[in-house]
Amino acid sequence: MAPALPQSADIRGWQSANTRSRLIADVVFDIPIDHAFSYVVPAGLVVGRGQRVSAPLQGRARVGVVVGLREGDAAGLKPLQRAVEPVPVLSEAALELGRWAAGESLSSWGSTLLSLLPPPPRGGAAETVSPPAAPAPGPSRAPELWTDERREERLVECLEREPGATLLIAPDREAAARWAQRLDAPRLDSGVSEAERRRAWFAASRGRSRVVVGTRSALLTPLPPPATLALIDEHDPAHKPPGAPRLHSRDLLLRRAELDGSRLLLLSATPSAESWWHARQGRIVRPDAPPAPWPEVITADTRGILRNHPLTLPLTRAIEDMSRQGRRAVLIVSRRTSALACDECGAVLRCPDCGVALALARDRSALRCPLCARADTPPDHCPACGGHRLSPFGWDPERVQTSVARRFPRLTISRQNLEAQVLIGTPALLRALPRRSVGCVGFVALDGLLRVPDFRAGERTWQLLWAAAESVTPGGRLVIQTQHPEHYAVRAVQAQDRATFYEDELKFRAELGYPPYRRLAEVSARGREDGPVRALVAECAAALQGIGGLTVYPPASATPPRGRNSRWRFVIKGPAELPRLLAPALAPFLGRRRRSSGMVEVEMDPQSNG
Ligand SMILES: [Zn+2]
Ligand SMILES: [Zn+2]
Repeated sequence: MAPALPQSADIRGWQSANTRSRLIADVVFDIPIDHAFSYVVPAGLVVGRGQRVSAPLQGRARVGVVVGLREGDAAGLKPLQRAVEPVPVLSEAALELGRWAAGESLSSWGSTLLSLLPPPPRGGAAETVSPPAAPAPGPSRAPELWTDERREERLVECLEREPGATLLIAPDREAAARWAQRLDAPRLDSGVSEAERRRAWFAASRGRSRVVVGTRSALLTPLPPPATLALIDEHDPAHKPPGAPRLHSRDLLLRRAELDGSRLLLLSATPSAESWWHARQGRIVRPDAPPAPWPEVITADTRGILRNHPLTLPLTRAIEDMSRQGRRAVLIVSRRTSALACDECGAVLRCPDCGVALALARDRSALRCPLCARADTPPDHCPACGGHRLSPFGWDPERVQTSVARRFPRLTISRQNLEAQVLIGTPALLRALPRRSVGCVGFVALDGLLRVPDFRAGERTWQLLWAAAESVTPGGRLVIQTQHPEHYAVRAVQAQDRATFYEDELKFRAELGYPPYRRLAEVSARGREDGPVRALVAECAAALQGIGGLTVYPPASATPPRGRNSRWRFVIKGPAELPRLLAPALAPFLGRRRRSSGMVEVEMDPQSNG
């Protein structure tokens, strides 16, 4: 049971009447307001920094975290109601890490901390727990980036040898479940019951579990030193979805390791350009990855063809050969693209300033750059070759299935059954394929991926191609149907050469000012009516005028089709200290809980600019 609140004894009343000095707790809540609220700590209630408490806020009881305790004048302050657990849920170090993350992401300390905690017990009945261990900063060790094929097996071996506790962060619940099973470890993610999550959290913080597995909501889990932190699939966009905590899991772990001396292992065959760059700068150690068995990588140029049938000759042959050998073939079909490209020469219509593909409006009336908001009417011929076949061309899995079934009537073809002779799916299917498990993977139209109106389109395509190559058995084939066989992502996978990909990708990022060279932020506003929301966003943009080092792009509508609320947004580019430059100017817009005209949000380092 949570401790009951004793009534204030008379003697305390006498004391406070004389000195008016009482113990005061400063508490932060899951609200966008970036300051703490002060409460009197009732006599008999023992609370510490990092402890969850229930306190009245805006007329109702809410759960917050104590971030400060001090003696002071209690006049006019309300009392805390109760402690959620008898001990702090966060260590001092975790509190400070949360404060840093909030500052980096222009979020409140409270909303950042509360998004990184296990759910509070319902009804006040808390499990028996003991306080988190304080990490003793050890000698700091450089983070490591493991890209080799045996990275996951090596991690398992390493965890058996390493002294101390390990926190393993997986990109999603499915991956967390797989890792928890593999390591026989308790889970901190929302795939298990709330009571299990809490037990795993406090067991980890007491050093009772050698390994705990979670998703990004577990990033602050206290561990006794010496600790190991492992981030699985560092490149996965699931490590930075929109919303609190508004920071990439990798960045938070880099900071955590720096502060508490934990060993940090980042695992990915195809790390983000940011992490590769950190390694190049010497901030991360990247051991060489010995080459693994590699499939034959064949490109099939689809310029001028592919409109009526989804399979070129090389892909047809690959499916035939695989079925003869009793091996499975997988066809990856990217969803219909919204960019416009020439079917004759393959040229994609791109923004001349930002280098990203222009997005075609649903009614096809305009081509718009997702970054700088520039809008043009779609041309009627190709600017590169003069051809007249410009189209938002793409295949969907249903059409491909029908077509392949007609071509191979005797094979089992499915979009669900992983055991089918030909399996058809979207790029997400590649996550479900174990390594070295299929005879061949074919990308029906790679260009759908390359044309995504996003500066990360090249990196994402590269990551999918590499994952596909890793899923093919030795002696198998990877067939890439594309109008861009010369693209550096395709070439690098063909040559099984990571370094050349990152060299070209980082050159592109440097030339056009994308991360890691410049930081991005997206400011958006949502509200009922379009006019006031638009005006609010314009006000935010105006507040940033004159700040040195910023590129502020004009606002554009981002209201989703059939959405009930109106949404406007704009993108900002700036230097590494971007959050510090934006915070003072945007504070007046973020502080208010809800303005009548709309609510303003800032997303630092958005993973997609679309
Ligand atoms: Zn642009
Ligand atoms: Zn053309």
